[in-house]
Amino acid sequence: MYDLAIIGGGPAGLTAALYAARGGLKTVVLESMMPGGQVASTEKIDNYPGFPEGISGFELSNFFYKQALNQGAEFIFQQVIRMGLVGSVKQIITEQQTIESRAVIIAAGSKPRFIGAKGEDTFHGRGVSYCATCDGAFYKGKKVAVIGGGNAALEEGVYLTKFASQVYIIHRRNEFRAAHIAVEKAKENPKIKFILESIIEEIDGNNKVEKIILMNVNTKQKNELNVDGVFVYVGTEPNTKFVSDYFDTDEKGYIITNEFLRTNIEGVYAAGDIRNTPLRQVATAVGDGALAAVQVERYLST
Ligand code: NAP
Repeated sequence: MYDLAIIGGGPAGLTAALYAARGGLKTVVLESMMPGGQVASTEKIDNYPGFPEGISGFELSNFFYKQALNQGAEFIFQQVIRMGLVGSVKQIITEQQTIESRAVIIAAGSKPRFIGAKGEDTFHGRGVSYCATCDGAFYKGKKVAVIGGGNAALEEGVYLTKFASQVYIIHRRNEFRAAHIAVEKAKENPKIKFILESIIEEIDGNNKVEKIILMNVNTKQKNELNVDGVFVYVGTEPNTKFVSDYFDTDEKGYIITNEFLRTNIEGVYAAGDIRNTPLRQVATAVGDGALAAVQVERYLST
C-alpha cells in the first residue's frame, strides 16, 4: 500500500513525487513513456528559472527524475488503464498489476491536438509530425510547414531551421498567440516565411507528404505549397481518456480543481497541464506539483 500514487511523470508529477517522498510519504509515480512527458521532447527551454542559458527539455526532465528518485520516490513505467477512486483506498490498474494507495495526484498532462485536415491521418509518420525534436533531423535541406501561431509553433519553427532549407509558418490569423520574444526570433530568421490568415485544407503526396493545400481565410482562395513535412502545433488537449468518467471537467475536458488542487473526489488531486489552469508552463506545473503533494500530506495526516 502506497501513501500516494502519482499518475504521470512530467514536471508536475515529478515535483509532486520529490515533495511527497521528501515529506516521508511512500510514493509511486506511474508513467507510460519516459520521465518528463512533453517537456522531454522539447529542444530547449529558455523560461524555466535557474538556467540562464536555457536547458534542453530532455536534460531538465532527467534532473527532475533523478531528484525524485534520490528522495525515495518509486517509478512504475506502465500505462494506467483504469482507476478505482471511491473510498479511502484507491486502486490504480495497469495491464500488469493493481496498485493501492491512500491518495492520488493526477498529473497526466496533455497531448498534441490534431488539426483535422484531410490527409493528416494518412501521412502521420510519413511527413506529418507533432514533434520537431524527434523528427526535425529527417528534413535536412528540405522544406517544411509548421501549423499554428502559439509558442510551440514559433519556437519549434525556429528549431527546424537548423535542418530545413525553408520553414513556412502557417497561421490562421495575422496576430500571434506566442510570446513577443518567440515571434521576434522567428521574424529575424531568414529561413522562415510566414503565411498568415491561412488554414491547411489538405495534406497530399504519394508515399509521403509532397504538398499541402492552403486556403486564405479572407479571400477563400486556395493555393498549393510543395513541402516535404508538416509539423502540427495547434495546441494541446488533456490526457484524460482514462479518467474522464470520474472527474468534473471544463468544456475542453480539463479537470476542475479548487485552489488547493483538490478534485471532486476526496483524496484525489490534479496538477499541471491536465487541470483547468490559466497558464501551462514548466514553472507552473512544478508549482502545482509542490502544492498538490503538500495538500496530500495534510489530507493523509488528518
Ligand atoms: P497554443 O498556445 O494553444 O496555440 C495554438 C495555436 O494553434 C494558436 O495560435 C491557434 O490559433 C492555433 N490553432 C488552434 N487550432 C487550430 C486549427 N484548428 N487550425 C489552425 N490553427 C489552429 O498551443 P501551443 O503553442 O501548442 O502551446 C501549448 C501550451 O504550451 C500553451 O499553454 C503554451 O503557452 C505552452 N508552451 C509554452 C512554451 C514557452 O513558454 N516557451 C513553449 C511551448 C508551449 P489562434 O491563435 O487563432 O487561436
